Amino acid sequence: MRDLSIGFEVVVLGGGPAGCATAMALAQHGIRDILIVESGDYTSARVGESIPPDTRLLLNELGIWEEFLQQAHEPCLGSCSSWGDDVLGYNDFLFNPLGHGWHLDRIRFDQFLAKMAARKGITVCTNTRFVRCEPQGSDGHGLSLQSKSDEKVKEISARFVVDAMGMHSGLARQMGARKRFLDRLICAYGFFDYSATHDFSRLTILESSEYGWWYAARLPNNKLAVAIASDPETVRQRALCNARDWLCELKETRHIAPIVAGREFNLERPLTYPALSFILDKISGDNWLAVGDAASSYDPISSQGIYKALFDGLSAAKIIVQYLAGEANSLDAYQIDILSRFNHYLENRNFFYAMEKRWPNSLFWTRRQERTHL
Ligand SMILES: Cc1cc2nc3c(=O)[nH]c(=O)nc-3n(C[C@H](O)[C@H](O)[C@H](O)COP(=O)(O)OP(=O)(O)OC[C@H]3O[C@@H](n4cnc5c(N)ncnc54)[C@H](O)[C@@H]3O)c2cc1C
Repeated sequence: MRDLSIGFEVVVLGGGPAGCATAMALAQHGIRDILIVESGDYTSARVGESIPPDTRLLLNELGIWEEFLQQAHEPCLGSCSSWGDDVLGYNDFLFNPLGHGWHLDRIRFDQFLAKMAARKGITVCTNTRFVRCEPQGSDGHGLSLQSKSDEKVKEISARFVVDAMGMHSGLARQMGARKRFLDRLICAYGFFDYSATHDFSRLTILESSEYGWWYAARLPNNKLAVAIASDPETVRQRALCNARDWLCELKETRHIAPIVAGREFNLERPLTYPALSFILDKISGDNWLAVGDAASSYDPISSQGIYKALFDGLSAAKIIVQYLAGEANSLDAYQIDILSRFNHYLENRNFFYAMEKRWPNSLFWTRRQERTHL
């Protein structure tokens, strides 16, 4: 392992999809000295598993498409939804020239990205947590970072730093950025054993209910992930983080309940995750920028988080190269790009939530139909 006290050209904080994509794209642009600082070790549970067919283009651009295929994740043939209607509507990828999408084993996917980054000569430092950032030197060039590993503090300096730490936006917030929230959903996840092989199970299934929406997707290793997205107070009031109550609510669904009937639920209690919809008011500054969920986070209904993380990484790398070459204005272009893609996401999100008219008195649906802008 290289001595971290010797400065790096670029340090990427967070080794998820956005961080690994940024680092790999920078390496493709000829940046040599890149460090990824990752707090975990790619063994604990991560959520976000469905990726659309166009992700292929991004993995190809990163030069890792063939290797990705060898990972044998679960093909996703499209989605079917009961949304605005009791009947299931189908939206498959049959005629998509890029083929099908994927349901990922997320731990394995993130491990794979970090391995590909290391193979491209990037130093990946796991079990190391970013703590603080200070301007470096009196000339203001670069940044000085403090990270912790085994409670030992490490000092790292870099000409440029990327915040890819997910929705905590740890560096950006230290740089004074604030989140502009649109929505704060909670998702409560459970997993079932599922060994059926018929094609229906390879579709993502979406079903709205009076107080939120349910989602089911088949994962590799014969697992079925089922989640409900709802408001935090509903999750609390209906005790949806308790297995018994969560399973009782699931039984009330029309389409997902029959699929999981008789299957073994293999968790003590559902796992809960915040699913925030926000954008930072400041996405970049002197010698830093944010990518992926650290910059902006989309409602999981969009299934765009991982695609966006990879896309952000590719576009951020171009911007960083220009910035390091002396084009200070390049960061403004990046900010505009992230904001315009967020606005595009908002249009789609609003359209989707507006389609559900079956529960005009439901707080869940009226909130989402009324709050359509930041
Ligand atoms: C319930 C739920 C369901 C979702 N479903 C989907 C889906 O079906 N499809 C989809 O595309 N997206 C989905 N998403 C969104 C998707 O998971 C995220 O958009 C995606 O993971 C963002 O990638 P990222 O690299 O920006 O952030 P992350 O994946 O969050 O990666 C951040 C990395 O930074 C590391 N880190 C954090 N803090 C520190 C620190 N202090 N120091 C060092 N490292 C740190 C973390 O360990 C992690 O590896 C879902 C999200 C939620 C919450």
